[in-house]
Amino acid sequence: MIPLSSPDITNAERKAVLEVLKGRTLSLGPRLKEFEERMAKFAKRKYAVGVNSGTSALHLIVRALGIQEGDEVITTPFSFIASSNCILYEKAKPVFADIEEKTLNIDPKKIEEKITRKTKAILAVDIFGNPADWDAILRIAKKHNLRVIEDSAEALGSLRKGKPCGSFGDAALFAFYPNKQVTTGEGGMILTDNKEIADLCRSMSNQGRAFEGSSWLEHVRLGYNYRMSDIECVLGIEQLKRMQELTKKRKLVFDLYTKKLKSIPQITLLSASKECSANWFVYVIQLAKRYTRADRDSMLSFLKEKGIQCSTYFQTIHLQPFYRQSFGYKPGMFPIAESVSDRTISLPFFNNLKEKDIDIVVKTLKAALERIQ
Ligand SMILES: *Cc1c(COP(=O)(O)O)cnc(C)c1O
Repeated sequence: MIPLSSPDITNAERKAVLEVLKGRTLSLGPRLKEFEERMAKFAKRKYAVGVNSGTSALHLIVRALGIQEGDEVITTPFSFIASSNCILYEKAKPVFADIEEKTLNIDPKKIEEKITRKTKAILAVDIFGNPADWDAILRIAKKHNLRVIEDSAEALGSLRKGKPCGSFGDAALFAFYPNKQVTTGEGGMILTDNKEIADLCRSMSNQGRAFEGSSWLEHVRLGYNYRMSDIECVLGIEQLKRMQELTKKRKLVFDLYTKKLKSIPQITLLSASKECSANWFVYVIQLAKRYTRADRDSMLSFLKEKGIQCSTYFQTIHLQPFYRQSFGYKPGMFPIAESVSDRTISLPFFNNLKEKDIDIVVKTLKAALERIQ
């Protein structure tokens, strides 16, 4: 079986985790502070706040920006569910704008027509690690006095015009689930240049404690337990030290796939947006437009039968059962996102994927394509 993804963890990293376990400070210790400082530096930000998942990071950012019931946030329907759910947590309304066919990111040209008096923010995602059009998004936000949330959960190490993803919005986040470019098992990181946002997020992540000089059992605001443990943080620190190597290995696998797949006429491959370099999160191919969702699904079952784990990145958010039932979304409302979503297959993609396994995936994919001719 060739898995869809697999974490890249070294013995040195395992040892570093054991070192923390030998001590007494398993949470709120020096590793949290160090990981935050390293992440802030990496993303060229003033502040970083470590939390227990990317989803928690999104939730705290939405709260810190004061987004609440009655507010609208413009976002993409082609993403992981969390980038829209975080708006619902605060009873605000996600308003979807369709994506660009070429980049699969939210289409800035479709944002402005969605702006109403209730719009408070734009939440854009660097999908699959490919940077969104931050110049355009920030321009629109400035013109209409909107806040910008940057979901760079899939884009650690990607650059736009030489600037790192995670450095663009009022606040941004990274995520460290095992399929992401850097993993801590579970974890997330909030990045911002705004001290007030950073302080609020830190306090809310730790049961609403005020940080300066207050006691453990004093809670100054509604908080959560969204803390990241020092066990997770030390893994993050060690992974980040290897960032160059991790990025290089990932690029090697990406380039090998691209070389071996580029002459297949029935599929389109991902490529980075203009003036961007992407540290890819997944390797996704798109079937040509003449193919249907049923064709794609039959390919997926064939690949699975042959021991190759593939997935459908992404099902659109508005057509998820919960969103259809709660908000009445129907097929046809965001035609580009839906069409792309019906025709994508995500292939096994991880740093230590061997060339001989890539060859097996490519060969099996070609056989799967022949079956649906
Ligand atoms: C992974 C991911 C998240 C959430 O991260 P978790 O750590 O799994 O909660 C949010 N947004 C996007 C786009 C993601 O891919």
